Amino acid sequence: MATDTPMTSNTETYAFQAEINQLLSLIINTFYSNKEIFLRELISNSSDALDKIRYMSLTDKSVLDSNPNLHIRLIPNKNENTLSIVDTGVGMTKADLVNNLGTIARSGTKAFMEALSAGADVSMIGQFGVGFYSSYLVADRVTVVTKHNDDEQYIWESQAGGSFTVTRDNEGEQLGRGTKIILHLKEDQREYLEERRLKELVKKHSEFISYPIELYTEKSTEREVSDDEEVSTEKKEGEVEEVGPEKKKRKVKEVTPEWDLLNKQKPIWMRAPEEVTQEEYASFYKSVTNDWEDHLAVKHFSVEGQLEFKSILFVPRRAPFELFEPRRKLNNIRLYVRRVFITDNCEELIPEYLGFVKGVVDSEDLPLNISRETLQQNKILKVIRKNLVKKCLEMFSELAENKDDYAKFYEAFSKHIKLGIHEDAQNRAKLSELLRFQSTKSGEDMTSLKDYVTRMKEGQQSIYYITGESKKAVENSPFVEKLRRKGYEVLYLVDPIDEYVTQQLKEYDGKKLVCVTKEGLKLDESEEEKKALEERKSQFQPLCTLIKDVLGDKVEKVVVSERLVDSPCILVTGEYGWSANMERIMKAQALRDNTMSMYMMSKKTMEINPDNAIIKVLKERADADKSDKTVKDLIILLFETALLASGFSLEDPNTFASRIHRMVKLGLNLEEEEDEKMDDLPPLEEAHEGQDQGSRMEEVD
Ligand code: ADP
Repeated sequence: MATDTPMTSNTETYAFQAEINQLLSLIINTFYSNKEIFLRELISNSSDALDKIRYMSLTDKSVLDSNPNLHIRLIPNKNENTLSIVDTGVGMTKADLVNNLGTIARSGTKAFMEALSAGADVSMIGQFGVGFYSSYLVADRVTVVTKHNDDEQYIWESQAGGSFTVTRDNEGEQLGRGTKIILHLKEDQREYLEERRLKELVKKHSEFISYPIELYTEKSTEREVSDDEEVSTEKKEGEVEEVGPEKKKRKVKEVTPEWDLLNKQKPIWMRAPEEVTQEEYASFYKSVTNDWEDHLAVKHFSVEGQLEFKSILFVPRRAPFELFEPRRKLNNIRLYVRRVFITDNCEELIPEYLGFVKGVVDSEDLPLNISRETLQQNKILKVIRKNLVKKCLEMFSELAENKDDYAKFYEAFSKHIKLGIHEDAQNRAKLSELLRFQSTKSGEDMTSLKDYVTRMKEGQQSIYYITGESKKAVENSPFVEKLRRKGYEVLYLVDPIDEYVTQQLKEYDGKKLVCVTKEGLKLDESEEEKKALEERKSQFQPLCTLIKDVLGDKVEKVVVSERLVDSPCILVTGEYGWSANMERIMKAQALRDNTMSMYMMSKKTMEINPDNAIIKVLKERADADKSDKTVKDLIILLFETALLASGFSLEDPNTFASRIHRMVKLGLNLEEEEDEKMDDLPPLEEAHEGQDQGSRMEEVD
């Protein structure tokens, strides 16, 4: 077995964790044409390791004593057929090596394999936190030499195939600090030894790495030396003796190693926005985020005056794969102080609801040795944060000018915007401009509140909405009937988080937001209509009282409805209590607070429709005989049906089903069988005089 590591007594062999092993076989045995991304992944790991040591050095300079340089070096070696990537980053202890490179699988390991088999591109690997293993796209053997300040130098090595070794490295060239990854390239991957290819790759994928990336090259020069001149031993290699015309002089070819700096650009955020191309933004975005797709929107700006900073903010095309993101971060803004990277985990930089926005901020004012603790109370940071929020909102509203892009944005991040409405009182009004909903008039499109207002009827005071589980569930809701008929537009708020939005967003542009499933919905009626309604209210009052008696505590009160057209009755909730939809959402939450739900859930008002045939007949029969059993039975059935139609759930669906079955039997003229289960139910009466069973069925149906 070819190996750089002498198999000595201090070599330990470890088995790869099963999923990592699977991932390695997949990487090795599946054909991917896009192998070049391995270099980006390894350079990105080096850059992270350098970030770590630099951050530590801000509070303790001595950590750099082991090696004061911070750089990344690429060393192609054509004789050995290896490409090495060397960094002077934080390095790994023995435990890090064993854990990080083989025995502990990240949740991303499996997720990445699933993504691959679903057709994802191998270049997405970095997003899943397993970028290191992309080495095996081009190498059949990988050696990692590493030195951490807290441990000795160790060598990790593996040819995949199930296991890796870790060896203490006393004899090899000592790194001081950092990591050297040696890729033993596969026969057909020698292109990664070529200077031109490496330069091209760094330019393409790693241009924005903020540490120098240096390529090892050899410059050969010819020099004339006189016979007796000593040629320094270092440069002796490649010495060629040529006999010149005058025998006294000879020419020597000298090979001098040189480090070619590959990323010469100054940081992109320091350049003037008008000088940066879209391609450069895209490539910068990808390099800071590991994303494989371009950004959806970008905002590059600088703030000057009392305080000075530059920033580039990006909106990604998709929401992140949060479910398996191992170290889910609350924000994605990298903080620099005068070009020095400080942290990418500063929660004070941006509110949580904007955590999906990615980018960089470079402050001229913050002190370099700022620690996480002092960041928290920092006044400068507070001002930066305020500005970032403002710029984010500007960026979103600019996005809204392009319908397709905005649709993508809204699909991915509407929940964040809505969370913002709930949390950020200061920016609530601006955020509400970003909301989009389907409505009774929007068709398949979505409408903004602004557009809704332009369509409002003359004299319309409020913005009407209904909440529910889906568009399908609400568009034919009895609550919407009358508004639709009268030409009022009703917004469909069918995302669970919409309930939280409406708790905070009480009005828009001076118009009250009114939920059509709650009590107190007043539609503007003509004088005539009002009078007719009053009349019917008094006519139907006895029936209301009877229904309340029959239903008892199940309802708070029973009233004549102003909003129904076709349906016999509905259940509405208190103006400030939970809607049916909210009740559904809260019931689904495992850790709900029961006292809260008792308080918020209990108030249901039944509204009956005096124009509905069923209600009319009920009224007649109740007027004739208050203790009519059928009437009572039908009231319960109507109540339960109304629960369902209004979006609530049934407490006892079985009894409800039995009642319905009995109705079906009646409708089919079946004799009631002896059935024990049915015994406890209040009997449904036989067909009424003058009415055959079929026609009664129709009414109830
Ligand atoms: P990720 O970089 O996304 O965490 P990787 O599979 O690329 O996933 O790397 C796994 C881990 O190995 C890293 O999180 C880091 O702790 C360690 N690591 C990889 N490369 C280096 C390096 N050059 N220097 C120090 N640590 C490294």
